[in-house]
Amino acid sequence: MLLPAPIQNLITALSRLPGIGPKTASRLTFFLLHAPDDLAQDLANSLTNLKSGTAYCQVCFNITAAGRDICEICESQERDSGTVCVVEEPSDVLALERTAGYEGRYHVLHGALSPIEGIGPDDLRIRELLERVRLGGIREIILATNPSLEGDATAMYLQQRLSPLGIHITRLARGLPVGGDLEYADQNTLLRALSGRQEMG
Ligand SMILES: [Zn+2]
Repeated sequence: MLLPAPIQNLITALSRLPGIGPKTASRLTFFLLHAPDDLAQDLANSLTNLKSGTAYCQVCFNITAAGRDICEICESQERDSGTVCVVEEPSDVLALERTAGYEGRYHVLHGALSPIEGIGPDDLRIRELLERVRLGGIREIILATNPSLEGDATAMYLQQRLSPLGIHITRLARGLPVGGDLEYADQNTLLRALSGRQEMG
């Protein structure tokens, strides 16, 4: 049986999301088809506003509200501008902010190096990080990429690029689940990893 195009299109679109195979995509699509109108409408509106209502901070590349050039963390005078924590994703910023134990600023790479997926240094916000350090005022870079193969490779690469610039480079302490995501680490583990960070190199 051929599915009508609107159904097939949604199944195809949902299948492109991480962790969602064709089966789940199909289940979600038929769920939405039978769900109350306002659910599908809310979802459609949220998806439309997701891009139009957000922007990237031009300093740290974290997500901020549309119309802002600089995010609240970069703008805040209460945050230590001499310490910059480098993370893979905006969700990692949220995880670290939830610990309430970090007072520096951030730099969001938007991914990690992965030769298998064809992600190289130019695909990440690495050039912008180096420029930021060259501008001066940064004493310490905390490499808080995920404790995974890609996260470790990214930290190693950044350490090599950053070390000629004469700043402290530290890496989150071990103790985070290997292969896991920073964003799923519990707050205490993350706090311990942050306070036990070690000099690299
Ligand atoms: Zn920012």
